Amino acid sequence: MAPIEPLKRRIYSLLFILGWVSGQVAWGLAEFKGMSSLPLRLIFLANALFQPAAFSLVWRKRFPLMYVDTIVVSFVAGITAVCMALKFYSPTYSPNVIIEVMYLWTPIIYIFAFCLPRRTQALRLSSIVWTTLLLVSLPYLIQHPIGLTSYLTIQLHLLTAALIVAFYFFASFQRHLQLAQLNVEQMAELANTDSLTKLANRRRIYEVMNYERLRFTRYGHSFSVLLFDIDHFKKFNDQFGHDLGDKILIALAKRVKEVLRDVDTLGRWGGEEFIIILAETNFEEALIKAKLLCEHVAIRPLVDHHVITISCGVTEVLLGDNPDAVLQRADVALYEAKHLGRNRAEGMPSDELEHALRTLW
Ligand code: GH3
Ligand code: MG
Ligand code: MG
Repeated sequence: MAPIEPLKRRIYSLLFILGWVSGQVAWGLAEFKGMSSLPLRLIFLANALFQPAAFSLVWRKRFPLMYVDTIVVSFVAGITAVCMALKFYSPTYSPNVIIEVMYLWTPIIYIFAFCLPRRTQALRLSSIVWTTLLLVSLPYLIQHPIGLTSYLTIQLHLLTAALIVAFYFFASFQRHLQLAQLNVEQMAELANTDSLTKLANRRRIYEVMNYERLRFTRYGHSFSVLLFDIDHFKKFNDQFGHDLGDKILIALAKRVKEVLRDVDTLGRWGGEEFIIILAETNFEEALIKAKLLCEHVAIRPLVDHHVITISCGVTEVLLGDNPDAVLQRADVALYEAKHLGRNRAEGMPSDELEHALRTLW
């Protein structure tokens, strides 16, 4: 569920507490000023019971918030309609109902309605409430076209109609924004992911490598790169078909992840060649990991009865390295592993590498 749900529950709980307190204050004032009456008391009593009931529904979390929205809207709209009817059509209670004050609170109904998850549901519920209130007031408006109460009632209908249109517009606008944001996120995901294995692609690997290189330059946190390639994969494809080859690539990605940490990044470098960025790992640790990886891949079949092996080339980042230099060293080490018989890991320790590079220059 979206993270908005707990927040919405907390806001609702607070609103119900406030609603209950303000209802009690209003009731007390009405009694104190001698303005209360039987229907008003019933309305205040309904409010006093409704708010704690709604609060407990929200608090217990087993009740979907969507229904709470609908119940609150229906309850408040019902009370408004009853008050309107008393004001317009009951000579006994008319003086006791100050409908103008209630009108100030009527827009709240539509705010709650537009808290519903779907804007079409919100529009339907709002339209039902709006039409009900219009129908309740219509005979009175026809009989008394002139007068302050009629004037305010017409204004209320116009204002709430405008509010419904505005809320619907904002809800649609928000939906478009959400969809646009989703597209941007999906596009970013696609731009960084290999479609077959769902691993990081070359672009993403370069990003991670640049980030790790910055950390290395700034804080001295070393990292290593492990390049690996499936042994004799061409033969496998030729013998068993490209589709099974694809399944092997997907299963291999899964198998390799089993020996990696969360901080490592596994990517498809291209074809049947993969790469791992081992964060906070020096050469010796990376070589141990590479040997473990070779064993872990070859230890049991990957797909059906097919066992495959891989060869790994390992290198650690050096001062002044750029990503291409690191990759080139890993590639040379991988070539060495292939040359020495495959299903193995090779690489040169950093000090020997630095020495070799110095003598080269
Ligand atoms: P080596 O042990 O020297 O790596 O031998 P190899 O046959 O694996 O090496 P080579 O580079 O000659 O062949 C790589 C093969 O990988 C060629 C191609 O058929 C296969 N391959 C590359 N990409 C894919 C892919 O996406 N799916 C499948 N099924 N095969 C692929
Ligand atoms: Mg190969
Ligand atoms: Mg290859």
